[in-house]
Order: sequence, then structure tokens, then C-alpha cells
Amino acid sequence: MFKALLLTKPDGGALHCAITDLEEAALPAGEVRVQVAASTLNYKDALAITGKAPVVRSYPMVPGIDFAGTVLESSDLRYRQGDAVLLNGWGVGESHWGGLAQQARVKADWLVPLPAGLTAAQAMAIGTAGYTAMLCVMALQRHGVTPQQGPVLVTGANGGVGSIAIALLARQGFTVHASTGRLHESEHLKALGASELIDRATLSGPGKPLQKERWAAAVDAVGSHTLANVCASLRYGGVVAACGLAQGMDLPASVAPFILRGVTLAGVDSVMAPHARRVEAWRRLAQELPAEVLASNTQTIGLAHAAGTAAELLAGRVRGRVVVDVN
Ligand code: NDP
Repeated sequence: MFKALLLTKPDGGALHCAITDLEEAALPAGEVRVQVAASTLNYKDALAITGKAPVVRSYPMVPGIDFAGTVLESSDLRYRQGDAVLLNGWGVGESHWGGLAQQARVKADWLVPLPAGLTAAQAMAIGTAGYTAMLCVMALQRHGVTPQQGPVLVTGANGGVGSIAIALLARQGFTVHASTGRLHESEHLKALGASELIDRATLSGPGKPLQKERWAAAVDAVGSHTLANVCASLRYGGVVAACGLAQGMDLPASVAPFILRGVTLAGVDSVMAPHARRVEAWRRLAQELPAEVLASNTQTIGLAHAAGTAAELLAGRVRGRVVVDVN
């Protein structure tokens, strides 16, 4: 038996979330069974747990789009008992039982070996949000963005993606500007590596199609008017890595920044990202994020507090990352 956070929803009934004892036989099919050491709360997990958006495809569901742990048994030759592994995405926690449990059974193709130098808890202090932040940095760099070109804006700065993006960009030598609705967290954002703070209210309303050229590049976790204003404020040839929708799914923009300033809108998806890109992202995360940065940006909770913290996260009251110790 093992404990899991289980979401149930009877036909036409309300969503129910409870810590439940499950048997190994209840786990979904897969080649590798993992003893989960830690999982996390990402924005998508909070949507799933609260039912605020239709993230979960079928019930009952164990939420948790990521986890780190140790292989218990494997029918795939790439993994053996005792191997340290992690997982992000692939529909885990949405259509396949996820990481907010003491055990998971998944496809071997979905796993990434835990990179040297990271503990399971540190990997989850990064989690899907931090891995996505690295995918955004890699996207900017693939498009040729360098620190010499000018400052880079990060939106949703106090969130999981934003906070790790600030730390990664600063360590690559970029000048980082951080947009936030929580200016009282200035000291934390500066400690992560931001040199200038911007009140997100200045970006979140309707704006002109072309605005003053401010940033060479941006990482956007917010979408909607914010992303439209960011596109309109990029310098000539600028690039924005767009990964999130914390403000909204819409994009009320014009083509002006693209056709008059050669701006690039680079979409970033973590869920179906190819294996080689994941391995490269995790290799870099292990090398580039100091342990003290992770520690200062992370709170750890137990399974019992996952539901309450999910509501807090959606209300914008959680700073940085939330690790869930499932044991
Ligand atoms: P968090 O909730 O941790 O952070 C989101 C941040 O966005 C908040 O902390 C807040 O920052 C800001 N924010 C919240 N609401 C609004 C609003 N109405 N208007 C403007 N800013 C707002 O979430 P994550 O960092 O985990 O995820 C961020 C986004 O990225 C989510 O939309 C998530 O779905 C997406 N995502 C996408 C992935 C992909 O594969 N493309 C993978 C991972 C995440 P502040 O208080 O500083 O303003």
C-alpha cells in the first residue's frame, strides 16, 4: 500500500481531493515503477487540484506533473532498481497518474536520469517550472540572444518559472528586468539576479501596437495583454520566449512588432519536448543553479497541505517554488 493524493469526480458531481491508500496493482501500465521521493506544485497542478481548469482528462486521477525518485522495478533495460530518475510532463498528472503519490508507474521513455550533482529534493525545487525556465533560456540562445544586446525582461517574476528564469539569466551574464505584481518582494528578486523591477500593472492593460524599444529579449509566463505589450516593447530583432498564461490565454496583439521590428515570438512547450532537449536542459540546470538559490526560492510541504497551497498559488500568493515531500 502507498499514499496518494486522489482526485475523484462522480458523474455530474463535485471534484473531491483526498489522501488515499492505494495498492500497487491500481497503478497504471508502464515499464518502470518508481518510489517517489518528492513532487511539486506547478501552476497546472494547482488548476488540476482545484478544478479551476479542465486539466484532468479522466477520473480518478493522481495529480502531479513532475516527480523525482528511485526505480523500484523496471522491465526496460535502460533502468535498473535503485536508479535515480525524474519526470516532467508527458500528460502525467493529466491523463496518466502523476507524482503526488509515494509510487508511480510510467513509460521508460518519459524518464530522465537525475543529473549528477542534484538531489531529488533539489530537482523538484527546480521542477517543471524551472525546467521550463531553462527551455525558455535555451530558446532565446538558439535565436542568438546574447547579454551584449541589452536587458532581458522576465514576467511573472515571483512565480516558479519567473524566479528560476531570473536566476538562470543573471548567471549567464544578462541584465535582467523583472515584472511583478509583488513589488514588496523586491529584495528576493534582486537576490535572484534582477537589477530593475517593473510594476506588472504597467504591462497588463491594452497598449499601442509599437511602443518604446526597451528589451532585447523576454521570458513571458503571463500571456494576454502583457505578452502583447512585451512584443510591442522589444528592441529591433528582439525575441520573446512565451511559455505561460497566468494572465490569460488570449493574445490581443498586432503584427506590427513582427513586420516592422523583426521581432520573434518563440513558443516554449515543456510537456512534449523531445528527450534530448530535456536531458540538455537538466544538465544545464544542475550546473548553473547554485544550491543556495534553490533553497531561498523554495518551500516544502506535505501531501496534506497540497490542496490548500494550490488555492494560494492560483491566488498569486506563493513565492517561487513548492516542493511536496510525499513521504
Ligand atoms: P506561478 O503561479 O508560480 O507563477 C505565475 C506568476 O505570474 C505569479 O506568481 C505572478 O507573478 C504572475 N501572475 C499571476 N496572475 C497574474 C495576472 N493575472 N496578471 C499578470 N501576472 C500574473 O506559476 P508557474 O511559474 O508554475 O507557471 C507560470 C505559467 O507558465 C503558467 O501559466 C503555467 O501554466 C505556464 N507553464 C507552461 C509550461 C509550458 O510547457 N509551456 C510549463 C510550466 C508552466 P508576480 O506576483 O510576480 O506578478
